[in-house]
Amino acid sequence: MAHTIEVAKSGRAQCRGCRNKIEKNVLRFGEEVPNMFSEEGGTTFRWYHLECAAKGKLANEVRDALKGWTGDVPNREALDKLIAEHLHADYPYAERAANGRAKCRVCDATIAKGDIRVAFERVVETQMGLQRGPGYMHSTCTLGYKDAAQLGKDALQTALKEHSIHLNDADKGQLAKDVEASESKMWTGEGEEGEEGGEEEEGDDE
Ligand SMILES: [Zn+2]
Ligand SMILES: [Zn+2]
Repeated sequence: MAHTIEVAKSGRAQCRGCRNKIEKNVLRFGEEVPNMFSEEGGTTFRWYHLECAAKGKLANEVRDALKGWTGDVPNREALDKLIAEHLHADYPYAERAANGRAKCRVCDATIAKGDIRVAFERVVETQMGLQRGPGYMHSTCTLGYKDAAQLGKDALQTALKEHSIHLNDADKGQLAKDVEASESKMWTGEGEEGEEGGEEEEGDDE
């Protein structure tokens, strides 16, 4: 998704973070999300004050969007500090499962506590609206996941190596082997089913 930063053209949009209006001419962050009313897979933007997005779950996204913004940013230092405090590991990343609640998106079996699991970002529709969060899989199942297969094995290995900031070197070695082994489960697009609802999503970050 291509998130964006722009100067608010009107004062009508409501910030999805603090729920106050975003005043005209103020910089705002647009979170691009699938438009559920679009049949053709269109997208729409949800607007935030920069600070509200940064201190919500979107610090990484604000950081990336700022790289493409050439204009001035008021209070840039304070904003950068806020972003740094709220950065999460970039997707996809791997970690040792903190609990045994998540189900593997590939084989549907539960991922045991302590197992190495890979997380890809998922956007799920819930009663609260669209929510961003991690979708988990066994490291040995990784390439069976559509997003992983589409990324390609080499790019996936590189990304996981860089992003898995909570794994030690031995675990990273194991992870690389597991991903290699998951090639036997490579996603091919056959038997693809629609995404099932995500209401039981595991909100399980410690
Ligand atoms: Zn706000
Ligand atoms: Zn699995």
